[in-house]
Amino acid sequence: TPGAASVKRLTSPEEELLKNTDVFIFDCDGVIWRGDSLIDKVPSVLEKLRAMGKRMFFVTNNSTKSRKGYKSKFSSLGLDVQDEEIFSSSFAAAAYLEQKNFKATGKKVYVIGEVGIGEELDLIGVPHIGGPADKGKTIELTPGYALEIDHDVGAVVVGFDRHFNYHKIQYAQLAINENGAEFIATNMDAVTHLTDAQEWAGAGSMVGCIKGCTGKEPTLVGKPSPLMIDYIVYKYKIPKDKICMVGDRLDTDILFGKDNGLKTVLTLSGVTSEEKLLGAANKIHPDFFVSSIADFFP
Ligand code: PLP
Ligand code: CA
Repeated sequence: TPGAASVKRLTSPEEELLKNTDVFIFDCDGVIWRGDSLIDKVPSVLEKLRAMGKRMFFVTNNSTKSRKGYKSKFSSLGLDVQDEEIFSSSFAAAAYLEQKNFKATGKKVYVIGEVGIGEELDLIGVPHIGGPADKGKTIELTPGYALEIDHDVGAVVVGFDRHFNYHKIQYAQLAINENGAEFIATNMDAVTHLTDAQEWAGAGSMVGCIKGCTGKEPTLVGKPSPLMIDYIVYKYKIPKDKICMVGDRLDTDILFGKDNGLKTVLTLSGVTSEEKLLGAANKIHPDFFVSSIADFFP
């Protein structure tokens, strides 16, 4: 693969990008918004792309909300986005289980995560336990104590969970090791920007914990796994060479785009600095980089 020297700032967007791209896949945090604030000029960029007839999808690894939850977030930021344009890793987990016809097994899902995963499982009619209901649960280690788990758990979905606790870890460990439940990870982002002040431990910490006690590797459904792109390409019959992936993270978004044969644009409006992008240690090279997507229309 071409080296860092091939990473080019986007200077002639019309020629280099817009002319031969029909579909944009936008990562959300760091591209559209940062936390709860809209990134400058995003509404006008999306409007201009729509006016040119471009299709767009929004793909986020953050599993704490369902697609419905994201629809509200887009609306609250003043962005008019269609339901079908939103893909979250909470949805990806449900889509994966649906594709496997998990419902037909009659089993349940044990959830480590927030409301988003459960809301998506409800939509496909798959029963689930855990999630927010297991907030604050503790374990009293009296002699001979054993944690009882529901033997109908056939899958454990692990995502970002601000109420992660030892009860949840042990529940997942038993379900996977003793019950043979499948281990599914929404995403493995190492850190995330919950506040601007510092990096915060991401879903990779919850997934890593369950990997640590089970010795098993999860099935990953979020970026960089191809699941969401395969879903979009299959459902909307879009040729991959007409798709551009736009993201702020090299090891999820840009890797996801490159592994799947998409054009890639890294934006510096999120977690990646220009120094890191162009540094010798970086081995993941997008086709172009921009300061923000406002550079699409200089
Ligand atoms: N996971 C969590 C918990 C997050 O807070 C974020 C970003 O805010 C992400 C993942 C990454 O989201 P995205 O894929 O939209 O950048
Ligand atoms: Ca991002």
